[in-house]
Amino acid sequence: MSKVAVIGGGAAGMMAAIRAAEKGHKVTVYEKNEKLGKKVYITGKGRCNVTNACDAEEFFEHVTGNAKFFYSAFYGFDNHSVMELIEKSGCPLKTERGNRVFPVSDHSSDVIKALRNRMESLGCEIRYHNSVKQIFTEDYREVDDGCEEGTEAKKKKKVKYESEVKGIVNSEGKKEFYDSVILATGGVSYPSTGSTGDGHKFATELGLKVTELKPSLVPFEIKEKWCTKLQGLALKNVSATLHVDGKKVFSQMGEMLFTHFGVSGPLILTASSALAQCKNYNSVMLTIDLKPALSKEQFDKRVLRELEEGHNKQLKNILPTMFPSGLAALIPELIEVDETKPAHSVTREERERIVSITKEMKLTVLGTRGFEEAIITCGGVDLKEINPSTMECKRIKDLYIVGELLNLDAHTGGYNLQIAWSTGYLAGDSVE
Ligand SMILES: Cc1cc2nc3c(=O)[nH]c(=O)nc-3n(C[C@H](O)[C@H](O)[C@H](O)COP(=O)(O)OP(=O)(O)OC[C@H]3O[C@@H](n4cnc5c(N)ncnc54)[C@H](O)[C@@H]3O)c2cc1C
Repeated sequence: MSKVAVIGGGAAGMMAAIRAAEKGHKVTVYEKNEKLGKKVYITGKGRCNVTNACDAEEFFEHVTGNAKFFYSAFYGFDNHSVMELIEKSGCPLKTERGNRVFPVSDHSSDVIKALRNRMESLGCEIRYHNSVKQIFTEDYREVDDGCEEGTEAKKKKKVKYESEVKGIVNSEGKKEFYDSVILATGGVSYPSTGSTGDGHKFATELGLKVTELKPSLVPFEIKEKWCTKLQGLALKNVSATLHVDGKKVFSQMGEMLFTHFGVSGPLILTASSALAQCKNYNSVMLTIDLKPALSKEQFDKRVLRELEEGHNKQLKNILPTMFPSGLAALIPELIEVDETKPAHSVTREERERIVSITKEMKLTVLGTRGFEEAIITCGGVDLKEINPSTMECKRIKDLYIVGELLNLDAHTGGYNLQIAWSTGYLAGDSVE
């Protein structure tokens, strides 16, 4: 049995603590807040989309950028394993549309309660209001690990450590000694939940590379001022295409929402994770197709038909047959046509402008909203620093890094919590 410190009592930290305690280690969890899982509490709009019950292949498609790194962690403790554990710990789950898994009660607090009960029943000590200040290490001195040369165990251990972890400095500035430390302090999004970037600071102090941090799964700010007039308008089954410096980086169908600053909604959040993967760009253009099921020609025919059928009506009274009311009211302004114009005198060129704004509504993306509104942080501790089959730092013995703190993220739908559960579990399983 060894002494293990887990820094951070979020999703990854709780799971790491559970697994390490199951394996018989003496586990102490340091959480800066007054309770565990403050961010988990607000997930899924308070319902906690625990994971996604899709198959492995589909799961990896939703991990952005570095899916391969996640293979071992996922296969060691996958979506079905976490569902089983949470249910076994007293929180029944249900699967909804898109394989999204939620607690039957629809309360994220029940997921946290189940995990906390499990941690307590396994004897984990939880130190609340305890913000760790530092992780301390010593230079590594090689000792005989007892593994025979050429064996799998030896290969797993064949890493060049530079230093080894010795413990942490607690909130009172006191050194506490541990055999292993699992760092699970999260990203920098929604900092009010406690994830304020402490882990990135510790990692940097220890000489680990941290990649650029960017808000992801986050709304866009849009240049076109008329956008704000549509505030509150939600559109279903539209298609969004994102061009970065003229290159298409994203195209998908889904739901979006106009806001007082630009656009949001599931489709836009997913588009933002494609943008977060792009580096050093100058221009970002979002093109919305409001009628993706129809070709330009088909939609033109539809407009022509509506204009012919209502030939004596004013344009403003015809548009609501094709568009939601807020948008219908704005279209004459956008295409610069008098809204009182009778349908029969709408010219072919004006009709084409209606088709164009519908099929290719161009929105200039000024940038994303900040970390305060980002569901996830893109970037973090460089995955090259971490052994994917244990979550241990390659250069620092007995230091494990897990969860959102890593440069690993995914789309919405329960995938990000699964990254936290799986990497946390793997670290807890790997401590010696
Ligand atoms: C609004 C919102 C909704 C979301 N909804 C979903 C969803 O439905 N499904 C999904 O899969 N993902 C969702 N996510 C993402 C998900 O919440 C994160 O991916 C996940 O919580 C990351 O887990 P973590 O343990 O790495 O970090 P966190 O959950 O952020 O936990 C980190 C913990 O470390 C503590 N800590 C930080 N520094 C210190 C320190 N120095 N000492 C001690 N403790 C410290 C923090 O207080 C915090 O409790 C959502 C995120 C947001 C913001």
